[in-house]
Amino acid sequence: MPRALITGITGQDGLYLAELLIGKGYEVHAVLRGQNNPKRAIVEAVAPEVVLHTGDLTDFSSLLRALNASQPDEVYNLGAVSFVAYSWENAHVTTEVTGTGVLNMLEAVRLHAGNDPAAVRFYQASSSEMFGKVQQVPQHERTLLWPRSPYGVAKVFGHYMTINYRESYGMHASSGILFNHESPRRGPEFVTRKISMAVAAIVEGRSDHVVMGNLDAERDWGFAGDYVEGMWRMLQQPTGDDYVLATGVSRSIRDFLDAAFTHVGIEDWSDYVRQDPRFMRPAEVDHLVGDASKAREVLGWTPSVSFPELVAMMVDADLAQLRAERK
Ligand code: GDP
Repeated sequence: MPRALITGITGQDGLYLAELLIGKGYEVHAVLRGQNNPKRAIVEAVAPEVVLHTGDLTDFSSLLRALNASQPDEVYNLGAVSFVAYSWENAHVTTEVTGTGVLNMLEAVRLHAGNDPAAVRFYQASSSEMFGKVQQVPQHERTLLWPRSPYGVAKVFGHYMTINYRESYGMHASSGILFNHESPRRGPEFVTRKISMAVAAIVEGRSDHVVMGNLDAERDWGFAGDYVEGMWRMLQQPTGDDYVLATGVSRSIRDFLDAAFTHVGIEDWSDYVRQDPRFMRPAEVDHLVGDASKAREVLGWTPSVSFPELVAMMVDADLAQLRAERK
């Protein structure tokens, strides 16, 4: 039975990946942060088979202990301070967790693996936010990185450290440059979930508007469930490498609002949406759209959920949750 260790188990990707790996017959272990973490119950409900180890990406010895206890064949480093807007207000902690945390994990894996550094395969969750002020459209594995937030800068550090450990020590280390991927499990602070929750609340008569920031920013949005399959495929290759995962289609926040409201039969949504500078960012990532041809050719990976299907899935899940609460 292969064994995997996941950091970031409480996030949407951690949960989808745990389900995927359990379905493939893995013994899944995960690092869980903090004392009395309120999200522990979510992990136990979704994937009770996962063996939890207390640890923190900023605490090197806790990572080494988790590796020793779980003896993994594969390590997926998904843990991060991941909300871009927050990263300006907490740049230092974002750098420590999202950036230096990757170095801690790589170093722990290297020491744990001993004489055979490639024995433990490593996945780093890199991000399209690294492209920031895009230097090329669409963006691929060799596009110049130009991060536009402390989060993006920290992810660039983790990305290059992963490549560096691969090249310096012969580690089987892969960096997945994932474009935005969403799901009903996405945190409510992210724009897609904020919209799907707001639209559900409006339909259910619990709210009459939503306050948004910049509606013109564009993202390449896919379904998180598809993207964790891509992570797993990267680690099944004979050697580590870097891959973009993306749909190749870019939509604006306005398009997302339009699709979400249209899905519930509201064509003119202008009265329901207000804007406030509070939700604007000091710098924007304007035109993210990914070229995933390498992942398609080498990994045989393609996304299966379209943009309208993703929006409908998220709105329907939030509607179902509100209706269940009412009963
Ligand atoms: P990100 O790509 O990781 O930053 O994901 P987000 O979902 O947080 O943001 C996506 C885009 O939506 C950014 O360009 C934001 O400026 C834009 N946006 C517009 N209004 C909002 C809002 O109310 N909340 C959030 N989170 N983002 C917003």
